[in-house]
Amino acid sequence: MMLHLLPLPDEIASAYKGRLLRHNGWSNPNEAMRSLLAWAGGGGANRWEVSTVELLARVAGMDTSKFVTEHTTVPLRRAVVAEPPWIPHGSSEQGSLLWTMALRGIRPGAYFCVKCVEEDFDHHGTPYWRREHQLPGVYCCSKHGLALSYVETADAFLSSPTAFIDNHQVVSEPWVADLQKNAQVQRFLAICADLLARTQPLDELDVSRAARARAMDLDLHSGHGIVRKRLLSDLVMQRFDKAWLASVVPGLIDKQAGEYWQTVDGAVIGKRAGVGSIVYALVFSALFESADDAINAMIATTSADKCVAPQRLEARQIDEGQLRTAYIAANGSHRGVAAQLRLRESIATKRLGDLGLPPLGNLHAVSLRNTLSAVLQHDMSLSRACRKHGLALDDVKAALRGALGPLDSVLGQITGTGPRPKAAPSAPRHRPVPPPRQTAPIANATREAVWSGHRAAVQA
Ligand SMILES: [Zn+2]
Repeated sequence: MMLHLLPLPDEIASAYKGRLLRHNGWSNPNEAMRSLLAWAGGGGANRWEVSTVELLARVAGMDTSKFVTEHTTVPLRRAVVAEPPWIPHGSSEQGSLLWTMALRGIRPGAYFCVKCVEEDFDHHGTPYWRREHQLPGVYCCSKHGLALSYVETADAFLSSPTAFIDNHQVVSEPWVADLQKNAQVQRFLAICADLLARTQPLDELDVSRAARARAMDLDLHSGHGIVRKRLLSDLVMQRFDKAWLASVVPGLIDKQAGEYWQTVDGAVIGKRAGVGSIVYALVFSALFESADDAINAMIATTSADKCVAPQRLEARQIDEGQLRTAYIAANGSHRGVAAQLRLRESIATKRLGDLGLPPLGNLHAVSLRNTLSAVLQHDMSLSRACRKHGLALDDVKAALRGALGPLDSVLGQITGTGPRPKAAPSAPRHRPVPPPRQTAPIANATREAVWSGHRAAVQA
């Protein structure tokens, strides 16, 4: 018998999942999802046929699109997209996106407002994690004007915010007070809030053309040619707080003045350049004097008839992270990965093989892990370790051959007996920088009062 809960207003989906698990006493998220699948009437379905977010929507009694639009950050991540289909957020026709993006954090850390925690405790009977507080660039509660608290604990959303009473950080209050007075930052936040409320993405071609027209009006550099005018990236650098920028667009503050920086300057070339939605929100907040003007320019030329039938995903549209996530969700089944990502099975097998992720077949993950540990850490022979953990030697050998494929390929290149590498290694990714922390004693008496109350409630 499952204890049934409804999502709370603006509750982030992964936190709703955490509340469901806690209320039902489930400690293993995978087993919990199998229980939910059985409850939802999909007991006969393979686990990978229904994504976690679709399951949560069913438990919530909501249409998946509505659940995704109201409880995930997908509408902001997908606000501007470069490739069709421009179908509504959360459409079940985009299975791969629901698997890989819907529950992924949009920024590092888990944020909460202590005053909201107190009020939610009173109004809803439980504190919870709000989606609004998890958005890029948000460090202040819009309702209470308090600097947010945050933790960097993995899977923090599976616990209640009150689990972090004694071990959370507070964003620097003087810094947050400055951000509250910063018109650029406030404009960015208003644009993001508007995009988050939309049910369908915008076509990057239209958005970039609008940005280019405005950049030309402002006599900024646009397009690909030699840089003779002021760069948009320099304008953004000059107008925004550096620490805030480092947390929202990692790497930007490290560029030199006058240096073309594709991640931002690519927004005004008037083409589909694959610039992210957050960067577009930043760019439009720099180019326009009001959030209304900015958002009107963004949406002016995208028509609703961009909705086209979804197509089978091209293999090149799927990155390594998506493949790994799908592989884990499918318990090592290549067929399961293909089903999740809408790929042909042969393509899924090729891509997974390149990553050293073999089909696990009947190999139980725990047994395989214990077998490898016995061989590598305790010098046991492979055949003996297989016997000890109940696995077929040939199956394990096949899996190891697949896992070691990438290493074997590289060794072939080193020794000159294998093919040359197809592509250069990708450039290192920039990581968001956490916000400045509050170091002085907390000035706001409310904060300590709230936590004192909760400490007493939790200890009671
Ligand atoms: Zn609040």
